[in-house]
Amino acid sequence: MKVFFTAVLILFVFVGISCLPSFGQPVEKATFLVLKNAMVIDGVSSVPQLRTILIEGAKITKIVDSTKEKPVFPEGAFIMNLEGHYIIPGLIDGHVHISHDSRQEIEMILKEALLGGITAVRDMGGDSRVLASLRRDALINNIDAPNIYYSSLMAGPTFFTDPRVISGTRGRTPGQTPWALEITATTDIRQAIAETKGSGATGIKIYADLPPKEIDRLTAECRKQGVRSWSHGTIHPAGPMDAVMAGVETLSHAPLLAWHNKAIIPPSYTKRYDLPHKADELKSPAFTKLFQEMKKRGTILDATVYIFQLGVIKNSSGKADKNAQEAIARYAKEATRIAHQQGVKIAAGTDFLLDPKNSLPNLHDELEILVSGCGLTPMEAILAATRNNAEVIGIQDKAGTIEVGKQADLVVLAADPTKDIKNTRKIRYVLKSGRVFIRQ
Ligand SMILES: [Zn+2]
Repeated sequence: MKVFFTAVLILFVFVGISCLPSFGQPVEKATFLVLKNAMVIDGVSSVPQLRTILIEGAKITKIVDSTKEKPVFPEGAFIMNLEGHYIIPGLIDGHVHISHDSRQEIEMILKEALLGGITAVRDMGGDSRVLASLRRDALINNIDAPNIYYSSLMAGPTFFTDPRVISGTRGRTPGQTPWALEITATTDIRQAIAETKGSGATGIKIYADLPPKEIDRLTAECRKQGVRSWSHGTIHPAGPMDAVMAGVETLSHAPLLAWHNKAIIPPSYTKRYDLPHKADELKSPAFTKLFQEMKKRGTILDATVYIFQLGVIKNSSGKADKNAQEAIARYAKEATRIAHQQGVKIAAGTDFLLDPKNSLPNLHDELEILVSGCGLTPMEAILAATRNNAEVIGIQDKAGTIEVGKQADLVVLAADPTKDIKNTRKIRYVLKSGRVFIRQ
């Protein structure tokens, strides 16, 4: 798991080389990198295909069908022979919270995540001052980290005593900052969304304690100003269908859909896990209606299945009852399975980027569960973490698939992930904007 000189040395020994690249630095403008004869899972075709990819600087400039055409390499190109290897688009974790640790810890986690195949993340609630600085440093390669996209949290006034939001607004007043903003019937929404944009956020996270009317106002203004609108599965008292009808682009956390069609939704998010999770109801006509509406409108389910398997969810009285945990874990998988079956797009996110005790990011676990527990094929799981997440963030013109003109954000694997999703863990190299990192 080393970059820079080790990468140069090992590649020099094991890979066919025509000249030395400037590893650890963005490849110079005039320098070409060639990934030769790999099986490419491009996010567009239905099966892996033998291809040679040409990269110039940070972008993919040519993709050649190696079975039909003998590619001519530009002079001075650095060639990596990747026969027997598989290339997928860089993985995107669509649900993380990275801003709460010290800068040093965050940088360590981000570097591990990058070396674990993650080339972009969507942060779903944190301190935008920290995130803006990290985002800039990741973008210009001051730090080795995935590209960072983040959100501004919007909620009703009762939400802002939550300790997570107090920690994310230190030095400011929770509820009165652009990235943790109290919304009421008298809020100037145009100004609120403008300030969100000014804080560098890509979207808003509609989190809690808001009625349907305010969600309508927020999404309408987001559309006007070109800001993404992302929502929790239930917003209390607004429910999942209210958010879908307001036109949010994603709903987060599959178990929060359990409030759909309940007679009363409590007005406080603190009660969000205070109901029985009965997976059988997901097959009822009421849920079919919800999933059909999501499919029709293109609302993506940010399911975060993995986190609910960890048994960490508490109800409003602070209890983590074992039976309730198991019911939530089952419900998360079953809601995702049925939504997927009914044509709802699934995005892969973890709510927990990386445990420093592990060497790989948790997204690999999420992908495994999407296949083993939610009925996605390995190819569909890969799309959930690449193309679908790029669509969620709104960066589909530059990331999420392997196509000419896109950023060279790629993961080179030693085995076929479409045969066994566990193979996303067999990482040899990670490329972010054309920079090569060696893992093993
Ligand atoms: Zn979250």
